[in-house]
Amino acid sequence: MPVFETEALILRTYNLAEADKIVVCLSRSAGLIRGVAKGCRKLKNRFGAALEPFTLINLTYYEKENRELVSFRQVEILKSRFNLSANASILTGFSYMGDLLVDFSPPHQANDNLYRMALACFEAASETPEDLDAVLRYFEVWLLKLEGFLPDLRACGNCHRAFSDEAVYLGADLSLRCLECTNGKGGAVSKRVYAQLRTTEKLSPAKFGEEMREVPKATKREMAELTFKLIGRVLERLPRIRPAS
Ligand SMILES: [Zn+2]
Repeated sequence: MPVFETEALILRTYNLAEADKIVVCLSRSAGLIRGVAKGCRKLKNRFGAALEPFTLINLTYYEKENRELVSFRQVEILKSRFNLSANASILTGFSYMGDLLVDFSPPHQANDNLYRMALACFEAASETPEDLDAVLRYFEVWLLKLEGFLPDLRACGNCHRAFSDEAVYLGADLSLRCLECTNGKGGAVSKRVYAQLRTTEKLSPAKFGEEMREVPKATKREMAELTFKLIGRVLERLPRIRPAS
């Protein structure tokens, strides 16, 4: 049986039988992995407390041929987030990001940009929990972008003319459009939200969080509604968790 080693972020766990767990994690070198940790719920076990959601681990696992589930062999904690387990809004936000990573990532396909972006978002929200909402917006925009679902922010989705300083509209297909191409249909995207969307392209999630502190609440709400619509369209349903914003 081939053995692999990778850094990974635990997204979810489920109990299995009496003493085992199924662990879903996003790994650096193999993308989304589902694995069985045998005996991990026994009092004495080789995994210790390493299999808590949102822990960053170094994972060694076996892969069996033709099986989607891998077997966890050894886990070493690189970063525990146990200190945040009492913060309900952070846990909801983390679960939301974890759910979206599971929904958007095809199993066993490494995506280094996605992995690094996700890690930076978990890190930024852990370091500065008060910036959680902004970090979630950043995460949504980048997740859409890296998976190829973000509408073009620079040019009209219909006539492909680059936006300059004009008003930008949201088309029925959720692409961004110029005034002429919307024919008066579809809502305008406010200049502030448009500016925030463009800002995500330039900053790290931590810096974006800082920047958003000065942004009015109405703008934050409008941005959250827009990203939620875009995510919902990809999933063809609403996300199971909606963090308050
Ligand atoms: Zn146009």
